[in-house]
Amino acid sequence: MSEQRLSGKCAIVTGGATGIGYGIAQRFIAEGAQVIISDIDEQGGTKAAQQLGDNCRFMRHDVSLPADWEPVFALANELFSGLDIMVNVAGVTLMGTIEDLDVETWDKTMAINLRSCFLGCQGAIKLMKRSGGGSIINMASVSAFKPQAELVAYNASKAAVDMMTKSVALHCARSGYGINVNSINPGVIQTDMLKKVISQVEDGEALMDSYKAMHPIGRIGEPADIAAMAVYLASSEASFITGSAFTVDGALGIN
Ligand code: NAD
Repeated sequence: MSEQRLSGKCAIVTGGATGIGYGIAQRFIAEGAQVIISDIDEQGGTKAAQQLGDNCRFMRHDVSLPADWEPVFALANELFSGLDIMVNVAGVTLMGTIEDLDVETWDKTMAINLRSCFLGCQGAIKLMKRSGGGSIINMASVSAFKPQAELVAYNASKAAVDMMTKSVALHCARSGYGINVNSINPGVIQTDMLKKVISQVEDGEALMDSYKAMHPIGRIGEPADIAAMAVYLASSEASFITGSAFTVDGALGIN
């Protein structure tokens, strides 16, 4: 067996019940890490942790609520006496243009996609700076730089995740914490989120075909494609990399 790249490391992955979060947790564990997955979906999260085995624990957690973060970090402290890797994955795609999106949906998108990353970074830094460093990864999207008219809130939230990541990275670097902070911009990835988006439009099949056609590489992505980048950014090989946004999108962004 090849050397495990995250041997002895401990991680929190939000949104770990399914999709990209589950794929990252699975790969982290295969690379030797212990992982806490958190998710608002208690049933899905419990099932996911059972599937992922002894090196995985699940905690119910609404990432948009400051008070919900405290037990998650307390569990990391109790189990691992610190934290090496924080991956902020949980997110939602709530559709609407500037003319039809209501303010509640705007606020909900910002709370789940953006405030979550702020709270996750804040708490992770407290634990990581005590143990000499770590890696924080925030999940953005190609939607951070490729606008779609019907994704006004999602586009704005993901662009903000990328920029917040850079600000946090700069602070950590100047403070000498040894904490690297980066974001990932996935293209379209085959997950439940994609299924939900497809189900919200009249001609889902046509939308799916158009998504495939947007990727010059000839396919949409899989959670494993994003997990591979997350493993790299969480590993010691990426120690000189901080404040960057990594596009993993089969060339969608340059198309
Ligand atoms: P998904 O819907 O399959 O999974 C998201 C998970 O987040 C779910 O388990 C859900 O229960 C959880 N979640 C939702 N709201 C939450 C909350 N308030 N608190 C805690 N957990 C919550 O989505 P996915 O496709 O795996 O996407 C994961 C991340 O990747 C998101 O941030 C998304 O914006 C981003 N992303 C996805 C794609 C894609 O095409 N699937 C592309 C680019 C970026």
